[in-house]
Amino acid sequence: MRYVTFVADGVRRPGVLDRYVVRPLEISTLAAYIALPAERRAEVPLGGPTATFVLDAPVRPQKNVFCVGRNYLDHANEIARARGSAGLNLPEVPTFFTKAPTAIAAPEQALRFSRAVSSQMDWEGELGIVIGRRCRDVRAEQALDAIFGYTCVNDVTARDLQRDHRQWFKGKSLDDACPVGPWVVGVDELGDASGLDIALRVNGVAKQHSNTSNMIFGVRQIVESLSRGLTLEPGDLIATGTPEGVGFARTPPEFFADGDVVEVEIERIGVLRNRIAIS
Ligand code: MG
Repeated sequence: MRYVTFVADGVRRPGVLDRYVVRPLEISTLAAYIALPAERRAEVPLGGPTATFVLDAPVRPQKNVFCVGRNYLDHANEIARARGSAGLNLPEVPTFFTKAPTAIAAPEQALRFSRAVSSQMDWEGELGIVIGRRCRDVRAEQALDAIFGYTCVNDVTARDLQRDHRQWFKGKSLDDACPVGPWVVGVDELGDASGLDIALRVNGVAKQHSNTSNMIFGVRQIVESLSRGLTLEPGDLIATGTPEGVGFARTPPEFFADGDVVEVEIERIGVLRNRIAIS
């Protein structure tokens, strides 16, 4: 099932996408639907289909987006190379950071950035986990019970700000720097989301291509580690880290230019596409 948030006739609603039509879920928001106990979700009625709609970000968390840094070995290697570091020194637990919720952007939406703020806007295609219930101290074996589904995330990063401010938050949190979507696919279909091809293209040219099985910390370990002593809530979003091929680590380095079209594609989920507008 593809769970969406869509706008039709000026009204934003949650729904289910069936090929080219959406059927609204008769509840206020997708977040409200996700917050229902799993057994009660089936009781939410579906409205009549509509074919004229625009997709919004499926979820817009009220709090920061959780992110995992350096979660693919080849990406960790390219960072070390780009920084001239001698060795890898991989962490034994995931590196967590966050993005401001105001950074969330919709699929197909133009991502608007300013040269006066950053001249090094970069891409990071990632698998996103959408949490399905309030939980804490989740064990890896039970982690899928805590997950509603999965989506695509582009962890767009201002590399100059990430570097200059030392702490990553500012460089990761500019407005429009977190496009999400185009929909959420249920955990019942994707399980632990391992074995999925993940790719990122800029203007149709492949920049990143890997597989979620190459993640250092898998979905179950991420949920276990993040939820240890920390409450997760329905609708929380976790970006699980990006594979090799980011712009700043390329030779020569590459960054977004005005008019670029960026696509994050994850097998069995879909394609998250955005145009870059730099002024
Ligand atoms: Mg990232």
